[in-house]
Amino acid sequence: MAIEESEANSFHWLMDMLESVEVGLVVLDLDFRVEVWNGFMENHSGITASRIQGQVLFDVFPDIPKGWLTRKVDAVALLNTKAFTSWEQRPYLFRFRNTRPITGTEEFMFQNLTISPLSGTTGEVNKVCLMVYDVTDIASSKMALERANEQLAKLSMTDRLTGLLNRGTWENLVDAEFERFRRYGHTTSLVMFDIDHFKPVNDTHGHLAGDEVIKHTASLTRNAIRQSDSAGRYGGEEFGIILPETDAEGARIICERIRESIEQSVVETSVAPIRYTISIGIAQLTEEPENYMQWMQKADEALYAAKEGGRNRVVVG
Ligand code: GH3
Ligand code: MG
Ligand code: MG
Repeated sequence: MAIEESEANSFHWLMDMLESVEVGLVVLDLDFRVEVWNGFMENHSGITASRIQGQVLFDVFPDIPKGWLTRKVDAVALLNTKAFTSWEQRPYLFRFRNTRPITGTEEFMFQNLTISPLSGTTGEVNKVCLMVYDVTDIASSKMALERANEQLAKLSMTDRLTGLLNRGTWENLVDAEFERFRRYGHTTSLVMFDIDHFKPVNDTHGHLAGDEVIKHTASLTRNAIRQSDSAGRYGGEEFGIILPETDAEGARIICERIRESIEQSVVETSVAPIRYTISIGIAQLTEEPENYMQWMQKADEALYAAKEGGRNRVVVG
């Protein structure tokens, strides 16, 4: 009698624990009828145990992926082993609103799910237990970290002042474009340009005004090219553009447009309005360069010729 009483007692407090544990517990028979629905499930679904008991889970939650869960449960019952699904594979099984005040940025509760087999006295699996873990905190911090990493990767590819590709990234693209030409022979052109008489701009108006001019150059360049073109800041006041599917004549037209728009614009810096010009060199890729550096050198030689020729001009190499 004493033993029975203590067993009854421990059964009682075990049930209390299952009721109040911060994990969702659901027992289903193999027809998906709900037998157990603990306090966690009641609180987050707003559906009481007495209301859902005996009902088919899919009738009460039509959003639950029926085919997927059926396959999982069948495998668990057949193999008599647990199955685990993380929030990264499937963000949630039950669409519960996220109630955490700190992680309020996530709309829904992210869940890990374990499905365990439960066997009857004959040893046959005749029910399964779903354990639903609230992993919203973990999921949202991991996603925030991933977003930060993405931003970081993007930042390390671009130049801080202008937002154009930085030298390393841009050179890698030149290399890739060179290899593409080698393989497919598509027409492609490279542009290098440099601001004319920039030292006097710095000397007269200061470095900050000089930076404004560099930013202005970058933004006009960005506006003049297509999505598929790649502009980079090669050096202090030197820039490069890759123009895929563009021959030298096409490149000249684009470059003239950039050159003219810069010649005609005035940069309203905080110290003074500044007018300036640029010189541009173009090299359409031929079979001659043996590597991308020789291709860049050809564009740079054309740029040098533009400087020698009197600046504020476009030269095709
Ligand atoms: P040229 O017409 O021959 O190009 O004459 P230049 O005076 O422009 O000569 P050069 O291209 O050699 O000038 C480079 C100058 O650009 C030197 C340096 O003071 C300035 N510079 C380089 N990077 C920056 C930068 O990030 N900001 C500013 N404000 N100036 C820079
Ligand atoms: Mg220069
Ligand atoms: Mg210069």
